[in-house]
Amino acid sequence: MSADTSLMPIPGPVDPVPVPRAAAPRADGKVELIGRSREAIRGALEEAGLEPKQAKLRAKQIWHWIYNRGVSDFAKMTDIAKAQQPWLIERFAITRPEVVEAQVSTDGTRKWLLRTHDGHDFEMVFIPDADRGTLCVSSQVGCTLNCRFCHTGTMKLVRNLEPGEIVGQVMLARDALGEWPSSPEGRMLTNIVMMGMGEPLYNFDNVRDALKIVMDGDGLGLSKRRITLSTSGVVPMMDRAGEEIGVNLAVSLHAVTKEIRDEIVPLNKKYGIEELLAACAAYPGANNARRITFEYVMLKDKNDSDADARELVRLIKQYKLPAKVNLIPFNPWPGAPYECSTDERIRAFSNIVFEAGISAPVRTPRGRDIDAACGQLKTAAEKRKRADLDREAAAA
Ligand code: SAH
Ligand code: SF4
Repeated sequence: MSADTSLMPIPGPVDPVPVPRAAAPRADGKVELIGRSREAIRGALEEAGLEPKQAKLRAKQIWHWIYNRGVSDFAKMTDIAKAQQPWLIERFAITRPEVVEAQVSTDGTRKWLLRTHDGHDFEMVFIPDADRGTLCVSSQVGCTLNCRFCHTGTMKLVRNLEPGEIVGQVMLARDALGEWPSSPEGRMLTNIVMMGMGEPLYNFDNVRDALKIVMDGDGLGLSKRRITLSTSGVVPMMDRAGEEIGVNLAVSLHAVTKEIRDEIVPLNKKYGIEELLAACAAYPGANNARRITFEYVMLKDKNDSDADARELVRLIKQYKLPAKVNLIPFNPWPGAPYECSTDERIRAFSNIVFEAGISAPVRTPRGRDIDAACGQLKTAAEKRKRADLDREAAAA
C-alpha cells in the first residue's frame, strides 16, 4: 500500500478496503459550508456562537443563497445584516473546486481539470445532447480498484472526495453554463452520472450526503430519476445505495464468465457474477419502468463473441432482471492492454441481445479528442507500474 492510503473499515457489512485518509483541513482554518445539510450548517453556526434561533434563520438564508442563487460571497447575501457579514467571512467558506484547466471537444463535450483545496487533481465532464445535458461527476481522486481497461485504474488512489467537492462539481457546471438561479426550466444540465473517477460505493457516505443535496427540491433540485450511480459491483453496498440514495443504478458488468471478469474487473474475485446479479435483482426501486443499466465495454477477442452475447441474455433472464445493456466501444489510452472490437462485431453482439427483447444501444464515444471519454480520465498522479497492479489484483 502506498504512503497516503491505509486500511480502514468502511461503514456497513463490508470487508475492510483500502481507503484513503480524510482530506487535510483547510489551510485557512475556515469551515466549508458546501456539502453540509441545512441542519449541519445550523449546527456549525451555533457552534461558532450564534443563538439557536439566529443560527436557524441564518442557515436557511445561507442555504438559499448557496443552492438557489449560486452565491459564494457572504457580502452579496443581502438579507444578512451587513454588520454580521465579516464575522461569517472570517469563519466560513463557500468554495468550489479550483478549475485548473477547461477543454472543449470538437463534439461539444467539455472536460475540466479540477483541484481540491489540498492540491489533488481530478476531472469532470459535461456531455451535451440535443435534448439533455449530462454531467459526469467524480467520487474519488483515482480509484482503489484497477479494472484493466480503465485509465483511472492505473492511478494511485489519492483520496475520497468530500461531499462538498462532489456537490461543488455540479455547482461549477452550473456556473460554467450560466444556470443560476437554479430553476428547472430551460436547463442544459439535466442529468448526472456518477461515472467520473472513482468507485462511488467505496465512498458511500460522502456520495450519499452529496446526492441528497443535489436531489433536494430546495437545493440543486435534480430528480433522482435523472441521476445514475455506476458501480463496478460493490455488492454489500448496493442495497444501501437503493435504500438511502434511491437513484438509478448502472453496473459495470463487462464480462459473463468468471475467468474473463476476474481478469478485467478484479473486484469480481471478491464479489462474483452470481452474487452481483442477485444484488441487482434485489435493488430497491428497480422495475420495468426503471431498469438497471448493465455497462459492457467491447474488447476485441476478449468479451465480444456471439456466445458472450447469448450468455449475457441468459443471465439477465435467469435473474429476471429489468435490464438494459449499454455497449461501450473501448476507449483507448496510452499503453492500454486491449483494443476495441470491430464495428461489425459490436453490431452483431448488439443484435443478439436486442433480438432477445433487451435494449442494447451502442454508445457513441464522446470527447475522445480531449481524453474525456469513459475510462480515459486520469490526472497527473504518479502512474503505477503494471507489475504492481497485477500483484494487487491477484491479492484482491
Ligand atoms: N467506478 C465506477 C464508475 C466510473 S467508470 C464503475 O466502474 O462503474 C464509468 C464507466 O466507464 C464504467 O462502466 C467503466 O467500466 C467504463 N470504462 C472504464 N474504462 C473504459 C474504457 N477505456 N473504455 C470504455 N469504457 C470504460
Ligand atoms: Fe475504478 Fe470504475 Fe475505473 Fe474500475 S472502471 S478502475 S472501478 S473507475
